[in-house]
Order: sequence, then structure tokens, then C-alpha cells
Amino acid sequence: LVNDIEDKQKDLKSRPPVITVMGHVDHGKTTLLDAIRKTEVTASEAGGITQHIGAYQVKVNGQKITFLDTPGHEAFTSMRARGAQATDIAILVVAADDGIMPQTIEAINHAKSAGVPIIVAINKMDRPNAQPDRVKQELMNHGLIPEDWGGDTVCVPVSALKGENLDELLEMIVLTAEMEELKANPTRPANGIIVEAELDRGRGPVATILIKNGTLKVGDAIVAGLASGRVRAMINDQGERVEEAGPATPVEVLGLSDVPNAGDLLEVVEDDQSARDIAQKRQNKRREDELSRNTTVNLEDLFSQIQQGEVKELNIVVKADVQGSVEAVKQSLQKLSTDEVEVKMLHGGVGGITETDVMLAAASNAIIIGFNVRPGVNARKVAEKENVDIRTYRVIYKAIDDVKSAMEGLLDPDYKEVVLGQVEVRQTFKVPKIGTIAGAYVTNGTVNRNAKVRLLRDGTIIHEGEIGSLKRFQDDVKEVAEGYECGIGIEGYNDLKEGDIMEIYDFEEVKRTL
Ligand code: GDP
Repeated sequence: LVNDIEDKQKDLKSRPPVITVMGHVDHGKTTLLDAIRKTEVTASEAGGITQHIGAYQVKVNGQKITFLDTPGHEAFTSMRARGAQATDIAILVVAADDGIMPQTIEAINHAKSAGVPIIVAINKMDRPNAQPDRVKQELMNHGLIPEDWGGDTVCVPVSALKGENLDELLEMIVLTAEMEELKANPTRPANGIIVEAELDRGRGPVATILIKNGTLKVGDAIVAGLASGRVRAMINDQGERVEEAGPATPVEVLGLSDVPNAGDLLEVVEDDQSARDIAQKRQNKRREDELSRNTTVNLEDLFSQIQQGEVKELNIVVKADVQGSVEAVKQSLQKLSTDEVEVKMLHGGVGGITETDVMLAAASNAIIIGFNVRPGVNARKVAEKENVDIRTYRVIYKAIDDVKSAMEGLLDPDYKEVVLGQVEVRQTFKVPKIGTIAGAYVTNGTVNRNAKVRLLRDGTIIHEGEIGSLKRFQDDVKEVAEGYECGIGIEGYNDLKEGDIMEIYDFEEVKRTL
């Protein structure tokens, strides 16, 4: 957290509990969430239609309860792994006719390891073969002792399908929450957790946020994970626009620059500039992390690369208007890969080219390919600054052609031998500490100091090597032309004889194509 201010005791006010529903598949989690939501719709004075925004609130005897609408311990734990513990109380749904199943046990362990209290909803009580006592017995085996058997685990028999006994379940939640003494400070700048987020065609990035602490207001500058922005509008779970959202309230927030990940933390910061700066720092950090990961992989690959010849990579980031185009570009490009050059799609996504895409490309030396999308003004600016190549296309084959030539640029060139000249050895000199030097005459072409030499004796090659020294009289020279005499030494080679011929040659690069 950027704003990790300690709240004063007097500022702390009690807040609604946040609930996650867990349990084995088909035991009725979704049905239960729907049934609870419906109790509120019929009860609420406004009679508004509950929006699906990833979380909702119901009121029980004037007390609010917040339900996260993504059931299951997977979502719960993946958020936790990101440092976001949203849940205060877990509702464990166990079908009365089925009893405890593998995922029930997982759910229990996940909730336990998070230190979250568990309330058991023994569901499907309407079924003739419902055996609530058997469920309680099985719960005991997993360390959950039912209250009525002397333990502290609240078990409520319900029928989600028939809406039976849900009131009691909700009351038990309120009671448990009271014991937890859940508090927050509504007066401070808000922080919260991204419950879900997506790119909406009309509205841009839309994120459902569960406020953890503080009050979020329209106009607040915010950072969420790698995204930043300003709260442009907020919509509550009833589909109403709101100006403020307090602790444990779920709201949809518009105004982020990018789509954050579920589990990212959202924070209010001082102003737009610091929001951008923080997001930028995080992007850089992630970039570094990614790079260091890449290094490890490369080291691991080193041995196979030595054996197979080094593979060069052309990194690309693909953005397109629809997922189908991303896939099409990806597949066509993969076909271009050879043993020598590989196209690597670092990222492919739907939507315009953002600053984040540009930063990723900058970090990984990638080019960005936009298909029926364009970079925004900021993305363009950053691309210029970071020297990132953005290429946009309207037809796939043009994109492929372009990538092909970029890949050809990465191919090792072929080398062709070119003979530069010929030299006749007319005398030899032994120079102490240096070796044998040929007094030579350039019969045609030129001798270049950096060229290679092939020594011929009676038309047979007896040595190939580098020129060690090239002199005109006492001076070192770079080049000696046809018709001139010079002194030539061959690097590490002394067996020179009068009458030998030196062929002076070099290699010339030849561009290759795919
Ligand atoms: P989930 O996988 O845990 O989310 O389970 P669902 O909510 O999708 O429910 C699985 C099946 O059980 C569905 O066919 C529901 O209609 C049914 N179901 C859920 N709750 C009840 C209940 O209280 N009674 C009965 N008879 N069926 C239920």
C-alpha cells in the first residue's frame, strides 16, 4: 500500500462483513448466491434490479452484508496470493444428500489457512434423502464441531432452491460479523480490491472494486495494479450512479487507463501525476522481473543452443480489434519461425495499443503489431520516447510480410569469399622476435591488412591464415596496391619460401531471405 496510514481508534466505525461462498461443485453455491440476492430485491423499497457487478449487498435487520459473487475457494485463494484478503466470513455449502466431498475439504482448509470463520449452510434440505446429521458428523472429522454438539461451528440447514431458512443463515452471518468486530475508517482516502475488471467497448476499462477502508469518491486519483486514472463515475450493485462508496461496498469504477487484474489493490493517491508515476514504477518493476526471469530461462537453454546453433527471436506484442484476429496473426507468424529465427508473441490482446503495451515492448525489445486498432496519444508519445516500433495494419498478409522482412534482418548473413589480390614472394627475411617476413610484389588487385591469406606453393594450398603485418619500407600500412612491393608476415606462420604465391581474400556478407 502506498497510503499505509494507521487509523486512529476513534475514527474506526463498524462495517459490513464480506462473504465468500465456497463448497463442492453442484452443492448449490450459485443457487444460494442467487437466492440471497433475490430476497433483497423483493424486500428493497426501490425494487431495483440488482446489477451483476461481481459483488452485491443485502440488508438484514438494518445491517448490510456484502457477498462476493464469484463462489469458490480458487478465486478466494488466488486473490489472497496477490495479497488481497477480501473475505471476512466463508459460507461453506454442503449438500445434505451428498455430504462432504473433496472440494468441501479443500474449501475448509483454504478458509482455515486464511483464518476466516466458517458458517456451514447444509443445503438441499428439501431433498427426501437429506441427512444433516451425517453432514455434521463428517464436519467433525474435519475439525469443525457443530454448535449444537458443543463446538463453535454454526450450521444452518437451508434450501437454496426453495429459499427456505435463508433468513436464519443471514442472521447467523450478522451475529458472526458482530463477534468479529469488523471496523474501518470511512474518513480516510480509500483503498480496495479489484474483484473483477474488463474492457468495455463503450466505457473503456471497468473495474468492480470492493472498498476495504476509507471512502472512494468520484474525482479521486487512483492506482490499481499497473493501471492508473481518476474515478470518472461509480455505479453500485443496484445499477445506480453514486458519488461515494464506503468500507465493504462494492462499486463499479470507470476511469482507469487500463484493465487491472482481479486481486490487484486499488488505492487513492494525491493527484493524477502521482497515480501515473506509481503505475509507471510498478510497470518498470514488473519489466525488470520479467527480464530477470528471461535470463534464467536463457541460461537453462544455453546448452541446447550451443548444440543447435543459436536461435534468434523477434519479439512482438499483438493488439487487435477482436480475439479472432489476435489468434490469426499469432498463427500466421508462428509458421514463419525457423530453427534460426523465432517469432515470439509476448502478449496478445484485444483493444487499442496502450502505454502498458509500449512499455512491455520497450523492455523486451519487441515491435508492436496493431491490427485494426491504433495507439492512443499517450501510447504514441511513450513509444517515441522508448523507441518502440508500432506498426498498424488493416490486412493480415501485410503484417505478415512486414514481420517476415524484420525476421530476415535477424538472419545471419551468408558469407561469400572474394579474392582481393595476389602476391608473389620474392625474398624472405628472418626478423628476430617476429618471425619470417616475405619481401613481396603485388601482381594484381590489392593487399588489405585485415584480409586473410592463403599460401600456395606449386599450386597447392599449404596454409591459410591471417596477415600478421603489412609494411611499405619501415611503415605499417593498411593497403598496398598492384604493382608495388611490400613486406608481409603471416600470423603465427614462418615457413615462407621464395616463389610462393599469396592469395589475399576476404568474406563478403550476403543477405538471406526466408
Ligand atoms: P454450484 O456448482 O455449487 O454453484 O451449484 P449450483 O448452484 O449450480 O447447483 C447445482 C444443482 O443443484 C442445480 O441443479 C440446482 O438447481 C440444485 N440445487 C441447488 N440448491 C438446491 C436445493 O436447495 N435443493 C435442491 N433440490 N436442489 C438444489
